[in-house]
Amino acid sequence: MRGFGEIWLAFGLAFCAIVLGVLISNRLALSAASPLQKHAVAAARPGAALASESAASSNEAESGEEKVDEQIEQRKKELSAEQNYVCFQKGTEPPFSGKYYKNQDPGMYICVVCSNPLFESDTKFDSGTGWPSFWEMAEPGHVATHEDRSHGMVRTEVTCANCGSHLGHVFDDGPKPTGLRYCINSLSLEFIPAEEWKQRESDESKTDK
Ligand SMILES: [Zn+2]
Repeated sequence: MRGFGEIWLAFGLAFCAIVLGVLISNRLALSAASPLQKHAVAAARPGAALASESAASSNEAESGEEKVDEQIEQRKKELSAEQNYVCFQKGTEPPFSGKYYKNQDPGMYICVVCSNPLFESDTKFDSGTGWPSFWEMAEPGHVATHEDRSHGMVRTEVTCANCGSHLGHVFDDGPKPTGLRYCINSLSLEFIPAEEWKQRESDESKTDK
């Protein structure tokens, strides 16, 4: 009887070895399929343990999300304490303190964390509040809104739809044609002058081809 049991044990071990072999070869094939992605993750954070977790992920979309997370973590280290406070702890800069509330130059305001285009200078207006104010977002879906019941008020918080960074609030007392007033912290934004923005866009369309 013991001999019979040993045969089954050997069978079981062989089966496990085959299953393991198939799993490993699948994983190798997957990681070979996206060398660029792996490279990007590794470059963003050399030697990080997270990079191997990302490579082990069998889901392409998931590893893309992890890549964005990595970039955000990296960006946090580059931003000032004030920018981190506003962007990631929903802080508010003092009015009339930011570098963009008076800016009237033509160009694009992008997310300081992920560079998502958020507001165009065409829609900027002087609200008298001391914060940069816009009556429209640059592209539909580029900013997200959330109900905010903090500080004993009901307001609508505005965040970057790409990375979730806090931008400010939106109110319905803005000018025509939308009637909206996006009240945004300068610290959440980076202004790109029109000429430079045009150049960036044409560079991007070249690399797309
Ligand atoms: Zn962003």
